[in-house]
Amino acid sequence: MPEFDYENRIVSPEYEGGDGDVEVSLRPKTLDEYIGQDKAKENLAIYMEAARQRGECLDHVLLYGPPGLGKTTLAGIVANEMGVNLRVTSGPAIEKQGDLAALLSNLAPGDVLFIDEIHRLPRNVEEVLYPAMEDFALDIIIGKGPAARSIRLDIPRFTLIGATTRSGQLAAPLRDRFGVLLRLELYTPEQLAAIIHRSAGLLDVAIDRAGALEIASRSRGTPRIANRLLKRVRDFAQVKGDGAVTEAMARAALDRFEIDELGLDDFDRRMLTTIIRTYGGGPVGLETLAAAVGEEAVTIEDVYEPYLMQIGFLTRTPRGRCVTQAAYDHLGIPFAGQMTL
Ligand code: ADP
Repeated sequence: MPEFDYENRIVSPEYEGGDGDVEVSLRPKTLDEYIGQDKAKENLAIYMEAARQRGECLDHVLLYGPPGLGKTTLAGIVANEMGVNLRVTSGPAIEKQGDLAALLSNLAPGDVLFIDEIHRLPRNVEEVLYPAMEDFALDIIIGKGPAARSIRLDIPRFTLIGATTRSGQLAAPLRDRFGVLLRLELYTPEQLAAIIHRSAGLLDVAIDRAGALEIASRSRGTPRIANRLLKRVRDFAQVKGDGAVTEAMARAALDRFEIDELGLDDFDRRMLTTIIRTYGGGPVGLETLAAAVGEEAVTIEDVYEPYLMQIGFLTRTPRGRCVTQAAYDHLGIPFAGQMTL
């Protein structure tokens, strides 16, 4: 079986830079520019307005959902709309208690601190967050042994925005300290087409409605993938055509990248085919599946599965993952019925 190149997966929802940091300029700056996620947006708008009226900072917010759906973007919008600074860091980047203490004590009043992958904060660092979130204070231990004592340092009031792929990954004491929990959903093709139109405008790319929808329907419900595919199709259109992104141009480019009309790539097809051929269509346990396809279980769960479940190709049962008849049909494999569900 040929090795799949995970690092360069074109439909990966992970941010990997490039394109002269165009990614940054594609980020909407206001809630009005932020397309979709209506429920989360409405709630945020109300909470921000209420906080503004009271002259307070927004309560701590936990955003959860698969990567690439706009969590960092939303944090930037909150900071922008509240007229404060945004500080961005991530769970794995903070190794020591002192790192977080330094970050917190350098905030200006009202600032937004965004911690991506907050579930990956080391446990002892996480403990620094509890008094910081609740009482806007740091408990510092001075000295060692019997002479050690704890002093409390006040820090400015701030808004913590945490991002994680699943809220269940967070320890309960941390989760409970967030006043606002917002779940981000995968986007519909129409919403993604609107995002692609907006991005094409910013990148100065000519695109028609059908071209945008073609890219949208292969973007796995994820704006980051939609923007990336748009840039790759733009390159293709520039070299192979007159630069305009039409439906035919988008289709030709995406077919060449081996992303099928539902946005599945080689890895998705290989995973579904493995469940079908090796495990009779399922149920198969997550760990077993991960070993069979050579990918980490959490990546399968957070990155691949949400979209395959949304399009109805995969179901989770208490006994494991099952492939549905729709996936058999899509892959052109005869469906003989499943033994158990
Ligand atoms: P996350 O933090 O969830 O991984 P990001 O906030 O980095 O995702 O978003 C990825 C990219 O997708 C951003 O560059 C942004 O341009 C785009 N994007 C995300 N959500 C939206 C949206 N609702 N409207 C327009 N563009 C969006």
